[in-house]
Amino acid sequence: MQTQPEADFTPEQYARSRARKRATAPLRYGSMATGLLVVCALGFSPLGSGLSRAAGNLAGGGWIATAVLGALALRIVLWLAALPFSLWSERINHAWGLSTRTRQLYWLDSLRGFLLLALLLSGASLGFFAITRHAPHTWPVIVGATGVALVFVFSFLLPVVVEPMFNRFRPLEAGELRERLLGVARDSGVRVRDVLVSDASKRTTADNAYVSGFGRTRRIVLWDTTIEHCTTEEIASVTAHELGHAARRDVLVGTALSAGAVAVSVAVLAWALGLGALHGAANVTGAADPRALALCAAVSTVLGSVLGPLFNGYSRRIERRADQYALDLTGDPAAMISTWRRLGVQNIADLEPNPVSVRLFATHPPVPARLAHAREWERSRTANTGGNSDRPR
Ligand SMILES: [Zn+2]
Repeated sequence: MQTQPEADFTPEQYARSRARKRATAPLRYGSMATGLLVVCALGFSPLGSGLSRAAGNLAGGGWIATAVLGALALRIVLWLAALPFSLWSERINHAWGLSTRTRQLYWLDSLRGFLLLALLLSGASLGFFAITRHAPHTWPVIVGATGVALVFVFSFLLPVVVEPMFNRFRPLEAGELRERLLGVARDSGVRVRDVLVSDASKRTTADNAYVSGFGRTRRIVLWDTTIEHCTTEEIASVTAHELGHAARRDVLVGTALSAGAVAVSVAVLAWALGLGALHGAANVTGAADPRALALCAAVSTVLGSVLGPLFNGYSRRIERRADQYALDLTGDPAAMISTWRRLGVQNIADLEPNPVSVRLFATHPPVPARLAHAREWERSRTANTGGNSDRPR
């Protein structure tokens, strides 16, 4: 028996989703627009180079001081610009019962995020200007190659260095659920080192799972909230989706695409930093000028905004492919349908998404599309087997 799409959610659930969208949309778009405007206002005017000079002068004004302290100053300005949106968002999520973060954990997260990005930006800035100063002609090749290598290193280290900064992970304990999930993994033929559970409940009531790292650091992570809220078959369906990512090496390919984007960014940066008009506007002398950091950030951010929708389109495609993999592997569209109905309500997802905003900003297919996909799979399966809905293989 197939469930009618109209019956997926109650009128109250639709109303709640709409109300949340009304409350969060200005925040989401406001935060994106402000981030873009601030970095452009700094980078495409003398403000950014002025900020770097002032910061560098605190430690003698040499190029190293300007590169490092300028990066720190830029990070502080961008963090301050984003802070009101972050606080507002946290407040709304608390009011909606989605956030369980204490005030202390919120500020700790904020501080850790700030420090991590400040460290990365200062390191990148120091490395970048060291190269542009010592190799004025060949720097795009050296910076491009270094950037590509760093993207791979970072993606490999993310699960073992960055994720533990924010969450604790434990192996899923022995029992029926673990047996079921290892069974799904065996069926898939994907080698899984472990299924881990993260303590997401200290921040949120929302459900999620993901796969990160590659090679020796690849792991499937279930949020503890998901284990608490979902049935064994629903978690098996979610795990099968994550195994789909592993089977198709989506993390590795995604990392390679990010590395490609870095190479393109460096090429665009090399072109932009050679433009006399931009030198004038930003009051910098060229790529070897450590005060050009804000200009670099602005060019990269504008490029990122242009490339973003392309990446998101690719991401939605691989998410749909992982859903397809999960359906083929478990042969259980009912579990996927109940998972997405549950997650749609639990996460207060957008149940009536605007197609334009999906195209531009969504990294995953919206909940109604995922429900439709599972039903489509169910229909074609029923048609192919003449009504016999046995599990495949
Ligand atoms: Zn996925």
